[in-house]
Formats: sequence, structure tokens, C-alpha cells
Amino acid sequence: MEIARVTLGMPELRPGTTGHGAPRPGGTGAGLLDQFGRVATDMRLSLTDKCNLRCQYCMPEAGLDWLKKDKLLTAAEIVRLVGLGVDRLGVRELRLTGGEPLVRSDLVDIIAALRRNHPELPMSLTTNGVGLAKKAKALADAGLTRLNVSMDTLHHDAFLQLTRRPFLDQVLAGIEAAAAAGLSPIKVNAVLMRGVNDGHAAELLQWCLDGGYELRFIEQMPLDADHGWTRDGMITAEEIRGLLSGTFDLSPDPRSRDGAPAERFEVRTAGSTGLLGTVGIIASVTEPFCADCRRTRITAEGKVMSCLFSREEVDLLPLLRAGSAMHDDDAVASRWQDAMWSKPKAHGMGRPGLGDAGFVQPDRSMSAIGG
Ligand code: SAM
Ligand code: SF4
Repeated sequence: MEIARVTLGMPELRPGTTGHGAPRPGGTGAGLLDQFGRVATDMRLSLTDKCNLRCQYCMPEAGLDWLKKDKLLTAAEIVRLVGLGVDRLGVRELRLTGGEPLVRSDLVDIIAALRRNHPELPMSLTTNGVGLAKKAKALADAGLTRLNVSMDTLHHDAFLQLTRRPFLDQVLAGIEAAAAAGLSPIKVNAVLMRGVNDGHAAELLQWCLDGGYELRFIEQMPLDADHGWTRDGMITAEEIRGLLSGTFDLSPDPRSRDGAPAERFEVRTAGSTGLLGTVGIIASVTEPFCADCRRTRITAEGKVMSCLFSREEVDLLPLLRAGSAMHDDDAVASRWQDAMWSKPKAHGMGRPGLGDAGFVQPDRSMSAIGG
């Protein structure tokens, strides 16, 4: 496969960012530790690479070559992996994602099984909201609590342009049904694209504040299958704060960020003192938080990715499917730990103006990793 190089105006990984080559401490006691002392406790698990939208910043118009069913983690394998993570490797939080997790027909059964095994585990789902209205109650009854719905605009034309599908009303109905089913908190994820929905940021925030949803803007990352990302094209966190500032006053949320990817701000109407709520901004590109990263990712076909931008993947599937389950748990856990031990210090993207060394975009798009 040809490697795509995109010029980001960013430094490449500097010497020392790939670790010192020390051996990993033995046993599962250290959990998912890396060479720089970070411990991953937040597991992102992709349930499928398939999706029913074609968001410009993620998926090509024609879709991708979906994984064959026998290559996907089965429900039993998912339950086993989460069990290993939680019971042996220190995972404290789980997010189910994709692709679009709602297209998986056994999703409710998977969530119910995970909840039976881990009654206290914070478990959330990231979805595009298409078809959510019909499934929200079943998801809540199965034990899901938290939900993130991706919705970049309230305008039908811009939604169609961004996602290449006319499903905004379904997403809105899904959010309403999720709230009615008691899912809480409900967060709304939005990616802004210049000239498409950047003018809708303040309106979307007002809508979320009115509905009691927490909005999080995500900087567009170079993880689109079309390789159309450019640094000039992306809307930075600084710009997002500027886009909101005519309507709202933002001030840093005094609560600890505690490893969360989003920097939270308190929101007030411009010039007034009453607190309306909060907004989060995930500035993965321009204000990266790699030093405090606590995430471990597993793709829908069972590959560990220690970083979203990683070009190295460690396949757990052969071990999951070999021999007796009890015997192989040690091997699977150890391989997962090895993968995380090699996590790079940083993704190599920094602030603009620090160099133009070139950055190698991963082969996988966001949908094939699990965002
Ligand atoms: N399909 C579900 C959804 O859209 O919510 C879950 C998977 S999607 C890959 C997870 C999140 O990644 C979404 O909030 C989406 O907006 C975000 N995302 C996808 N591509 C992105 C990119 N290139 N940069 C930043 N965020 C991206
Ligand atoms: Fe599908 Fe989510 Fe990617 Fe959009 S961001 S194409 S909804 S996986």
C-alpha cells in the first residue's frame, strides 16, 4: 500500500519519542503501562468498521471494503477481551465505538453481557444517531448509561454535505429518544469544517445548552480515508473559541481535567454572569494531550492500537482463537501489554510553525480504527 504523506507544518516524532527500549516489567500487575510511565485505563473498543454515513472527514463517498464477518470480533470475544482488560489489566472505563456500532445486530446483547459481568463499569457508546430512536430504550435497559452522539450541524443542507446522507431528522429523534430513555449524560460530538458548518458553532452550542446536552467540538484530524485533510483547512481550537466568543463568554472549567481529552469551559451569555453550562474542545492537533493519554484502542478485528496515529498494530485475534480460553488468557493479556508498552511518546503533531518535516498519515481512517 502506498504511504500517504501530508504536509502538516508539524514536527515528526523527535528522537526519544519512541522509547528507550527497556524491557517491559513482567506479569499483569503493571496493567497497560508504557515506557513513558503512562497507564492506559480507558478502553476504546470498535464493534464494526461498517457505517451508514459517509462523513467527509472520515469515510470516502463509496465506503470502504468492509471486513468479512469471520474477521470481526464475535460477541463472546468482545466480552472476553473486556473481562481481561477490567479484571486483569486495570481498565476502568469502556467506550464502544466503530464504524457505526448501531449497525451491529447483537449490540444490545453485547451491552447486556458486559453489564452483567461488570455492574459498576462506566460504559459509553459513540454513535452517529441513525436508527437510535428505535434502539435507545433497549440500550438503556441493557445497562448502557452514557452516550455520545455525533451531530455537526442543525442544518439539513450542511448535514447532507458533511455526511452525504439526508438523515439529520433521524439523529435529532435519536437524541430525544435517548434522553427519554434516561441515558445520561448525553454528549454531542461535532467536527467543524471550514465553509460548511463553522458558522453553526454558536447555534449548536445554544441548542445543546437548552436541551441539557454537553457539546464537544473535536478538531478535525488527518484520519480521513480521502486524505483531504490540510492544516490550513482545519478549524483549530483557538478558532472555535473565537467562533463562540461573539455570543458566549468562555472561562476554563475549574474542575480537574483528569485525563479527559476535552478541555472544558464554562459558558455564559456574553457580558452576563449566569452559568449556562459547559462546552468541551478536543484539540488533538494543535493542543495535544499525549503526555496524559490513558487510552488503549482495539479495532473491530482485534488489533491493539496504542495511539490513534499509530502505524503499528498488534493482532490479538489469533491468540483469542487458539487453544483453550483459560490457558490463553495469559498470552492475550501479555500481548496486549506488549502493544501498549510500545506506545509512542507523542503523535508527532505539534503547534504550527515548529517545522515542516512531514507526518505520515496512518493507513486506517477513523472509522476503521474506532474513534
Ligand atoms: N460512527 C460513530 C460516530 O460518528 O459517532 C462512531 C465512530 S466515529 C469514527 C467517532 C467520532 O470520531 C465521531 O464523533 C466523529 O465525528 C469523529 N471523527 C471521525 N473522523 C474524524 C476526524 N478526521 N477528525 C476528528 N474527529 C473525527
Ligand atoms: Fe461513520 Fe462515524 Fe465515520 Fe461518520 S464519523 S463516517 S458516522 S464512522
